[in-house]
Amino acid sequence: MVRAPVAVTELVERARDGQPRAVAKLISLVEDAHPSLREVAAALTPYTGGARVIGLTGPPGVGKSTSTSMLLSTLRADGKRVGVLAIDPTSPFSGGALLGDRIRMTEHATDPGVFIRSMATRGHLGGLAWATPQAVRVLDAVGFDVVLVETVGVGQSEVDVVRLADTTVVLLAPGMGDGIQAAKAGVLEIADVFVVNKADRDGAEVVVRDLKQMISFARGEIRGESWRQPIVRTVASQGEGAGDLVRALAEHHDWLVAHGELARRRAARAAAEVEAIVLRRIRSELADLNGAGLPVLADQVVNRELDPYAAADKLIDELRAGG
Ligand code: GDP
Repeated sequence: MVRAPVAVTELVERARDGQPRAVAKLISLVEDAHPSLREVAAALTPYTGGARVIGLTGPPGVGKSTSTSMLLSTLRADGKRVGVLAIDPTSPFSGGALLGDRIRMTEHATDPGVFIRSMATRGHLGGLAWATPQAVRVLDAVGFDVVLVETVGVGQSEVDVVRLADTTVVLLAPGMGDGIQAAKAGVLEIADVFVVNKADRDGAEVVVRDLKQMISFARGEIRGESWRQPIVRTVASQGEGAGDLVRALAEHHDWLVAHGELARRRAARAAAEVEAIVLRRIRSELADLNGAGLPVLADQVVNRELDPYAAADKLIDELRAGG
């Protein structure tokens, strides 16, 4: 594919001026893994670090999209500029293809202080682990005060949200079948704030009670820190509990700062980002190796001419020679 050159400096300037189309273009460059990203990252980096990154995760149907919309309204009323990345690791669509699902967010569509974007992997090397932190970096640098990263809670993606966010919100709701079971499978460790959404429904108090029990049981064993994960009840479809949620987020942010944890989390995020770039580059160099390279070595392993470790050594030597 021939890629048109991009006037990076001008694009970054326009994005920082608040032009949504320029912001969208920058995110598209990330999604397309465009070669100019190196230049984009260099231009953006001095402006990063100002945004609070909040991850929201939970099973499908729990109310993530509705809660994101509720948070948007509350944060906007407070004068904050908010960027939203909706990550669906199970979807092949991207670039706003999921926006049809987000009809509830249309009230924000014409608000220049809001930017909403759905992202998927498009199958490119490194996938979301590579693309998401870079998209967050774009929104941070162009001046959004808060970046909300919404992810469907399916295994690894939850963990990736945590590696990315300053604060991770885990949503649960009554009537989700295995809601609390899902919680057992790891969300206790990753949640900074719990939301029990659909508090208007029967069973919400049971979810809260079970959650409290699990938290007190796990406290000390798992976390061993002074932060007590709050449980916020919301009715996102009615906007109820928005104030409590925003307060819980602010308290967690203050706690992060007071305990040096914000810096630690951001260092972990940068490490994950750099690692993803390195892994992606190694993969693409592997793919570019001519002549020998992986297929030949693989044949040699199959033919018992080489053991896999010796083959790996050869490949690494070839990569070094090529680099
Ligand atoms: P997501 O898949 O986690 O993003 O969930 P959605 O935000 O799309 O919500 C799933 C469904 O639950 C939608 O029909 C919402 O209108 C509904 N919903 C969201 N929040 C609430 C709530 O607090 N109470 C009730 N009763 N329904 C809700």
